[in-house]
Amino acid sequence: MKTLYPWQTESWRALQGLRSRLPHALLLKGAQGIGKLDLALNFAQSLLCEKPNADGLACQKCNSCHWFGQNSHPDFRLIQPDALTAVEDGEEKPGSKKPSREISVDQIRDLSNFANISAHCGGYRIVVIHPTEAMNTNAANSLLKTLEEPSANLLFLLVTHKPQQLLPTILSRCLSVAVPTPTRENGAAWLAQQGVKHPEQALAQTGFAPLQALNWAESGEGAEERSILLAAIRQPAKMDALSLADSLQRSAPGYVIHCLQQWCHDLTSAKLTGKVRYFPEQTEEIIKLASGVTAVALMRFQKELFEARRAAFHPLNPKLFLESLLLSYRHLFPA
Ligand SMILES: [Zn+2]
Repeated sequence: MKTLYPWQTESWRALQGLRSRLPHALLLKGAQGIGKLDLALNFAQSLLCEKPNADGLACQKCNSCHWFGQNSHPDFRLIQPDALTAVEDGEEKPGSKKPSREISVDQIRDLSNFANISAHCGGYRIVVIHPTEAMNTNAANSLLKTLEEPSANLLFLLVTHKPQQLLPTILSRCLSVAVPTPTRENGAAWLAQQGVKHPEQALAQTGFAPLQALNWAESGEGAEERSILLAAIRQPAKMDALSLADSLQRSAPGYVIHCLQQWCHDLTSAKLTGKVRYFPEQTEEIIKLASGVTAVALMRFQKELFEARRAAFHPLNPKLFLESLLLSYRHLFPA
């Protein structure tokens, strides 16, 4: 059973309120890492359940719940990029072809049989697509066709972190449900319950996405790179961009850029408003550093980071790529 998170009570109530008048497609939108997929799966299971509880949650006892728990419900499909499925199945083998980060047109076309037969259990047939923006253009057009000719009792639950990237024609065929990001207090309290040691810090690092924070804390992912990078950028005058790039070249470039973006966000924000968002423990230090940089230079560097992030999946030479960014950072400050 996927958890219903404490900050999703209102969203759950809103979804339950739609039970008797469901549209053909619901769009669950909100920040990444706040549990939208789990919410969608809970809702799907609840709609398929033979005897849901009074609060609408699935009973976990009936045949339908049993199939759902075994990922073998005949009236349910989860469509996501192979890259996500491979991570969940632990199937990412070194050396093998990289699984796709896109949802392909074949994955959507395969749905047409599913969409055109009647439900095995006589109720709904449900398709969850996650994240919907991972569909390539052909896949999106194929989905649009299906949405234009809806079948009875077929429900699409589209989960998206970036609704602005979806076709307007798809958006206009969905009923949108905004899934909220928890407040700092609620997010940190939940992380503390999960045994995360520095919950406020972990939460801030991920841009206030508790599931991502838990994932990073549990896997230790990026912790070492982050501390190497932070130690250096806190003292730009002493920073050696070349050797820093050398020690970071094996990390995911996207991760390094993400961390630099947060740091520069805080520098800019400290300069303009005296407040920081991602590095609350370093507030004083950031304000002091920011006093030596112009806002224009900071914004220019943020633009450079933004553009670098687009190219970050497969830089030709990761070391040079990082060197150039770190040198730009170094040059923001007086020598
Ligand atoms: Zn059930």
